Amino acid sequence: MGASPGEFEIIRDFFASAPQGEGVVLGIGDDCALLQAPSQGQLATSMDTLVAGRHFPADADPAAIAARALRVNLSDLAAMNARPLWFTLALTLPESDANWLRKFSSGLLQTAAQFGVSLVGGDTTAGPLSITIQVIGQTARPLRRDGAGCGDSIYASGPLGAAAAALPVILGDQRVPAEVQHQAERAFYFPEPQFATAAAISDFASSALDISDGLIADLAHICESSHVSADIYLERLPVSSLAQSLAGANALSLSAGGGDDYQLCFTVPPDKVESVEKLGLGVTAIGTLSAGDAKVRCWHNGEPWQAPTAGYQHF
Ligand code: ADP
Ligand code: MG
Repeated sequence: MGASPGEFEIIRDFFASAPQGEGVVLGIGDDCALLQAPSQGQLATSMDTLVAGRHFPADADPAAIAARALRVNLSDLAAMNARPLWFTLALTLPESDANWLRKFSSGLLQTAAQFGVSLVGGDTTAGPLSITIQVIGQTARPLRRDGAGCGDSIYASGPLGAAAAALPVILGDQRVPAEVQHQAERAFYFPEPQFATAAAISDFASSALDISDGLIADLAHICESSHVSADIYLERLPVSSLAQSLAGANALSLSAGGGDDYQLCFTVPPDKVESVEKLGLGVTAIGTLSAGDAKVRCWHNGEPWQAPTAGYQHF
């Protein structure tokens, strides 16, 4: 294997040996993969692109980039209560660098093995570094955005603000001790898709999504799809301890407005709240839905609170 493998060597040496799991009739190497659809439920599919310089620094650890690329895609499956099955990878590389590719593919395939998902195809091209992954999963009880109703409680599945607070560390703008640097890298590159929580709440929740663009912005999507409004009480937010130590007084607004945590935001009808609380999932009730015009209103200790940071928008 040379230091600058060609397109076909890249596929053969770094990706074609990916283990082929459940439902893979024919994997990498032909014009298409052949996949056996599960007999139960529906297929769920989603795609996310990570662009160097926008979603991660171009010189970041390739294994970490790979982990993040797959994990953020898996998070969409988790948010839908879908079990991961397969994924494809469109890789655009500025140069062919065997060292980089070795680290990238080992990070990718290790993450794939951890979550039981098989790489079944892709595309390899030259250009500015970007990684597009499409995931496919199966769900029998999907958690959609459009099922929420007035009076439902709003929940966050876990700590918020860590990834947003980690960003200046990741970008090299904030110097911190090695241990904190490590925590920041974990928060940013290794978000945890919330499969277990999604499965546990799927009998009770009326809607759910994963928080990629920030709690306020993403909750607004539930409100729009479900034709309701939300009141959230910021003193209840589960602000991550990493966000607190990195961002201090700004941690609360990062928890409300910052993205990239990939926790779930979900809603539960009043008669199901007790069942959800009994599950002991470590989830936090942060507000309530009411009738209205798809607005998210934020309160802090009884006072209206204005978000200083809007959710991330590309255009
Ligand atoms: P075609 O020319 O028929 O589109 P390619 O030469 O692009 O096929 O790819 C050959 C095989 O390798 C296909 O099965 C394709 O899905 C797979 N492949 C290409 N690039 C990747 C990649 N980055 N990761 C995984 N599989 C890949
Ligand atoms: Mg072809």
